Parts: sequence; C-alpha cells; structure tokens
Amino acid sequence: MADPVLASVGVGANLGDAQAAVRKAIQDLAGLPQSELRAVSSLYASAPLDADGPDYVNAVVQLQTELSPHALLMALQAIEQQAGRLRPYRNAPRTLDLDILLYGDLELNRSDLHIPHPRMWQRAFVVVPLAEIAPQMVSSAQLEALAGQSLRCLHA
Ligand code: AMP
Repeated sequence: MADPVLASVGVGANLGDAQAAVRKAIQDLAGLPQSELRAVSSLYASAPLDADGPDYVNAVVQLQTELSPHALLMALQAIEQQAGRLRPYRNAPRTLDLDILLYGDLELNRSDLHIPHPRMWQRAFVVVPLAEIAPQMVSSAQLEALAGQSLRCLHA
C-alpha cells in the first residue's frame, strides 16, 4: 500500500446555497476511501475572479491520503458530479469546484493534472485559507502579494 501523503484540496461554490454546497463537499471529502481529513479552514466569501455569477464561497482542506494523484482527481470529480455540476462553458458559475492544490511535495505536469495547482498562489481565496490551516506552507510575502483581493471570513 502507498505511503500516505498530505494533500491540500481547494473547495469552491457559487451557485444556489454555496455555503451548504461547500459544507457538504467537506463531509464528502471526509468520507473518501484510504483518506483521513486532517484540517478544515473557515469558509471565505469573495467576488468571482475571471468568472461570472454571485459571490464564491471557498475553503481549503488537508487530507492524509493513500490515493494516487489521479485516483484523488477521479474521486474529486465524482463528488463534483454528485453536486450536480454542469460545464456549459469555461469558467461558468458552478455548484462545486474541487481542485488538488498540493500533493505532498509532488510536481506533476500532465495534460489532465497539474500539481501544484498552477494558479493557486495568485488566489487569495486559496492562499488565505491554506495559511489558516497550514501557516508553515505560506510565506508572509505570498500573503502580502494578495492583500488587494478582498475576502470575507464567514465565521460559523
Ligand atoms: P475546472 O473546470 O477548473 O474544475 O477544471 C477541471 C479540469 O482541470 C479537469 O478536467 C482536470 O483534469 C484539470 N486539472 C488540472 N490540474 C488540476 C488540479 N490540480 N486539480 C483539479 N483539476 C485539475
């Protein structure tokens, strides 16, 4: 059996009850096989970046997982499908978006999977929740670079 790896997963939604969609996705992630939920950030709201529609709700979770990167991607896509995600066009509003941000210290560049997630360090809605649960993974310079992007922490 593979050694477990700490993976960081971004969770986002902006259609319907986005907070409920994010909370449900976190429950689904907690139930993934060969995986253990290790940390869950607060939920954050932000205006969409390069996308249409109402505010996004985002969070970041960390999973200790024995799933391979591709098996984890398949599992995330199954959770997205269950949430009723449609893909009418690129960057369309979505009921649920799950991204593998980091998978241990793996660097992978395949046509269907890029790890680290290529745009993660440009997005406050990823970096701020990641810094909340894993401050050692984010530098103060990385946080300061995103200070212009407004983000509201949705306290439970
Ligand atoms: P999106 O529409 O943003 O959910 O993008 C989904 C597509 O991005 C999928 O078909 C994946 O194959 C691809 N992809 C590439 N890298 C990643 C990643 N790190 N996490 C999730 N999806 C990824």
